[in-house]
Amino acid sequence: AKTPVTLLGLGAMGAALARTWLAAGHPLTVWNRTPARAEPLAALGAAVAATAAEAVAAGRLVVVCLLDDASVAQALDGASLAGRDVVNLVTSTPAQARARAEWVRERGARYLDGGIMAVPPMIGIPAAGPYVFYSGSPGLFAEHRDTLAVPAGTTWVGEDPGFAALYDVALLSAMYGMFAGVAHAFALIGEEKVAPTELAPLLSSWLTAMSGSVAKTAEQLESGDYTSGVVSNLAMQVAGTPTFMRTAEEQGVSAELLEPYFRLMRRRLAAGSGEEDLVGVVDLLRR
Ligand code: NDP
Repeated sequence: AKTPVTLLGLGAMGAALARTWLAAGHPLTVWNRTPARAEPLAALGAAVAATAAEAVAAGRLVVVCLLDDASVAQALDGASLAGRDVVNLVTSTPAQARARAEWVRERGARYLDGGIMAVPPMIGIPAAGPYVFYSGSPGLFAEHRDTLAVPAGTTWVGEDPGFAALYDVALLSAMYGMFAGVAHAFALIGEEKVAPTELAPLLSSWLTAMSGSVAKTAEQLESGDYTSGVVSNLAMQVAGTPTFMRTAEEQGVSAELLEPYFRLMRRRLAAGSGEEDLVGVVDLLRR
């Protein structure tokens, strides 16, 4: 028999998760603050609980996919968590996840935190590569891994319940840096007779090629050696920055997304690190 699942929260993400468990034959109990959102799932065979407490009482494995940490506290406040396995998929900070883990454990439950690396249309579609970072109780993870793997892949990142959020936010932060660069690139060609669709494939393959620098940066951070095998040193790169600033100006584009990074590069150079790779910027960011 398939493990029964209780799911709190039927927003865009919760509803996508719910459908995959139903399709895979897991008995599913759902609760949502606004009851109407449970109706399509009831039609697919989900049991609908009138309160969060009632949903939690229905089974051991309780998956939470509400808006934020505050809504988790509100929803679980009246529920009896003793003996439950709580899997919290709500996006939070590492500190919030650690505090929520403690809160849940004090109430007699095991706790697993998850960071979802997917948008709802990717859920249940292995080819789209959706996965969830998990951290917290290793026992809970081992016991429920197969059930958790139904909507998306499972990537274990350690017993510290804050790690799933840490990995999640680290990846998404890097993504925003990439989005910023892409926005600047499209702005630069904006006034010219260059079609965005013409630039796009060149831009994505360039970003893919440059992503090789991630592994190198990691090795440099671990070894502390920022200067061996450097191909484009900081002094050379800083000397090149006026070209980027002037091009932005010529094209009538604000350089506000580029400037903060260039400022850090100049600060590192001023500290005497001209022979290094760009990795030294990491040290400047750590307060
Ligand atoms: P939605 O805004 O679609 O849904 C929010 C859900 O939270 C609804 O079920 C809503 O209930 C409920 N809710 C909000 N406030 C409260 C409260 N005070 N008490 C009880 N329930 C409450 O969000 P998503 O489903 O998209 O996201 C859910 C979680 O998944 C978030 O933490 C999000 O960061 C994370 N996530 C989402 C992704 C996405 O692309 N959508 C990607 C990765 C992670 P009601 O229906 O009554 O309003």
